[in-house]
Amino acid sequence: MSDILNFIDGAYVAGGGRWFDVVNPATGQPHARASEAAEADVDRAVAAARRAMAGPWGRTSEADRTAMLNAIADEIDRRAEDFLAAEIADTGKPLSLAGTVDIPRGAANFRIFAKMIGAEAERLYEMATPDGAGALNYAIRRPKGVVAVISPWNLPLLLMTWKVAPALACGNAVVCKPSEETPSTCALLGEVMRAVGLPDGVFNVVHGFGPGSAGAFLTAHPDVDAITFTGETRTGEAIMKAAAVGTRDISSELGGKNAGVIFADCDLEAAIEGTARSTFTNCGQVCLCTERLYVERPIFDAFVAGLKAKAEALVPGAPFDSATTIGPLISAEHRTKVMGYFETAAADGATVVTGGSAFALPGDHEGGFFVRPTLWTGLAEDSAAVREEVFGPVAHIAPFDSEAEAIALANDTRYGLAATLWTRDLSRAHRVGAALEAGIIWVNTWNLRDLRTAFGGAKQSGIGREGGAYSFDFYSETRNICIKL
Ligand code: NAD
Repeated sequence: MSDILNFIDGAYVAGGGRWFDVVNPATGQPHARASEAAEADVDRAVAAARRAMAGPWGRTSEADRTAMLNAIADEIDRRAEDFLAAEIADTGKPLSLAGTVDIPRGAANFRIFAKMIGAEAERLYEMATPDGAGALNYAIRRPKGVVAVISPWNLPLLLMTWKVAPALACGNAVVCKPSEETPSTCALLGEVMRAVGLPDGVFNVVHGFGPGSAGAFLTAHPDVDAITFTGETRTGEAIMKAAAVGTRDISSELGGKNAGVIFADCDLEAAIEGTARSTFTNCGQVCLCTERLYVERPIFDAFVAGLKAKAEALVPGAPFDSATTIGPLISAEHRTKVMGYFETAAADGATVVTGGSAFALPGDHEGGFFVRPTLWTGLAEDSAAVREEVFGPVAHIAPFDSEAEAIALANDTRYGLAATLWTRDLSRAHRVGAALEAGIIWVNTWNLRDLRTAFGGAKQSGIGREGGAYSFDFYSETRNICIKL
């Protein structure tokens, strides 16, 4: 078992908290232990970040930051095998997924913000028109300062770098708190930062949990200027309360209960294929996954049969087995939660189209947290399985009879992260797309991402937008300078 250490002021250190096991979800066995940061360690990390901001890093040019971000991306690519091994050990996700999505996006996140920060700088320093009183106003942007970055376990490197890259691009220093379930790749990033010569203190990592641990210590720290968080809505609310003290800025990307709306005029094969991806990718553990499907009645039976076939064709298995197409849930606790919804759905009268049980693999993977991809029909809209985020490989499928009904059903949720729409009618695509109450709407596709576009949730799925220039808006502070002429 390896030891995972905190990374503070350029050095790997054991924290003053306890050691906790990091479990491989594909086997159910610990593969590493991580050192929890105590409050004093979080204090040291924040102080190191503050000192870094007061030093040369606080005055680096865009050109130097661009070069640094590109070097970080190159180093992640060079260490791709190490990142892959670490990510797969923490998450159990198949190599086919981690190797094509998680790790490449870790590097791509740095490259896109490296590319954009130069162009953004030109936009930011543009002079505004002099006003009638004979004054010249112009705006500059400065880094926010010390940014706390708190991330979840479902896409560990991808989501951490999605925030660290623009934070560094804007010249901030960061203190990161990865999920306690998946600390390995964030810990490895410390080695990358050292290899490329990022000044000590600019990038720090503290490990641990939420309440009473590193997460709460960090978000409550008075010397943290802004907090960026991805995780559950309830946690987001707790972090907002912490951020209110000292009026610190917050960006939050939270939970979802995303709808897929499938019209009878769609390309049925494409809709089934796309919905299988949107429901089962990463064992349903992507915030953008669809868990509520609304299908126009004439194609309802054909759609259900098609999606059932796709679900049953998925192959749960060991991450490095090339036949594997679906991995485990993240933990025993999460599997208990997901299977709780299997029971609730059955008790609420669901027809189980497929799945609804755990899945035991033989041999070394017998203890892994696998469940069968699961589809339900026949639930009332107020059933917990239809209303609450399950975050597993599940979806409920219900029929609809009109466009208005489909929109009302899709929008009947407290969440609003993403929605997916399948139709060949262009006018309908625009009309329904605009009517869906979600931050991200895909038409005839799912999770097709351009990292320059706005990413974030409506309603209780989040506050603010990240991505491209939206990230720069959050990770920098605009200062207006007014010169009397
Ligand atoms: P979580 O909220 O339990 O934990 C996320 C992080 O917050 C972890 O690092 C955890 O240690 C920390 N944390 C928990 N309580 C805290 C507290 N009081 N103070 C400070 N930090 C605290 O979420 P999770 O289970 O790791 O992730 C799954 C959730 O994340 C799902 O709801 C999913 O929808 C959401 N998610 C959202 C997006 C998005 O972009 N909107 C992306 C991925 C995941």
